Amino acid sequence: MNTQKPSVIYDLVIVGAGITGTSLLYALSKASNVRKIAILEKYSGVALVNSHPLNNSQTSHDGSTETNYNDQHMLEVQRAAKLLRGYVERSGKPGLFKKTHRMVLGVIETEVVMLRMRFEMIKNHYPDLKLIGPKELAVIEPKIMEGRNPNKPVCALISTEGYAVNYQATSQSFLNDSQTANPDINFSPLTEVQKVSRDEYGYYVIETNRGKFVTKFVEFAAGPYSLKFAHALGYGKEFTILSFSFCSCSSDFFLPSSSSPSSFSLFSYCSWVSDGFSSILPEKS
Ligand SMILES: Cc1cc2nc3c(=O)[nH]c(=O)nc-3n(C[C@H](O)[C@H](O)[C@H](O)COP(=O)(O)OP(=O)(O)OC[C@H]3O[C@@H](n4cnc5c(N)ncnc54)[C@H](O)[C@@H]3O)c2cc1C
Repeated sequence: MNTQKPSVIYDLVIVGAGITGTSLLYALSKASNVRKIAILEKYSGVALVNSHPLNNSQTSHDGSTETNYNDQHMLEVQRAAKLLRGYVERSGKPGLFKKTHRMVLGVIETEVVMLRMRFEMIKNHYPDLKLIGPKELAVIEPKIMEGRNPNKPVCALISTEGYAVNYQATSQSFLNDSQTANPDINFSPLTEVQKVSRDEYGYYVIETNRGKFVTKFVEFAAGPYSLKFAHALGYGKEFTILSFSFCSCSSDFFLPSSSSPSSFSLFSYCSWVSDGFSSILPEKS
């Protein structure tokens, strides 16, 4: 058994420099006394996987047009969105975000009724949100109304306060601002974590292609790979990864819902393209 105490012991090692890892780094650098931090990333720079702008739809979700959120989740997401939007606006750096409109569209009776009810329920939380009908839609999105049977019900919730966020540029900005606040931060690109264990002192020993990192705490922000490391430490054994692709809407909502080809029912106007992702689900025994 190796009884020598390691020479460098980090307070925290963050594994993964996407938007999750870098935003945690930023929060700790600005609002905590945790100083000795390393952030390990297997690729050559930040946010080259899910947080890369080509790999996600760049929507800053705020709960207003996500009709699949319950009230509690909606308000949690709104609070987080305000923090993110505040950061990208205050930073004054170019290329972090773009203001855009957000819309959720209802094209059959049940959807229209549902959106009207939703609007009444949430309008006090989202003063920027408007409920619009066919006339305003024809101006804002003429293609939706072109050739559409005027007797078919249609409405939309719309906000001009939507944000498209470049999560890669924002990750880079989080890293830069963190290093300015705390020059001791060790950002280590091209460093792939291969194994994690605990030593006889209770420290986490993280083995990488660039040697070992020893730390009091470790945060895995490595996307779905995080579960593999959680398992190695004895956590989350009841979970497994199921890879699949999906549309960000139920099939009822996504399929053309009338004879008119222009009446696509988009569950979330901003991200209607198919999303491919991995989800953590309880494992069947
Ligand atoms: C098609 C699609 C569309 C999406 N649209 C949206 C959207 O519109 N709005 C939205 O908010 N979200 C969207 N998402 C989700 C969003 O992209 C992710 O939730 C987010 O980018 C995850 O960030 P992350 O930092 O957790 O993961 P990542 O950005 O994947 O970062 C994980 C990092 O960990 C590193 N890593 C992994 N394993 C190791 C290892 N062993 N050692 C060292 N480093 C390691 C990776 O290289 C990577 O850099 C979308 C996702 C997809 C797939």
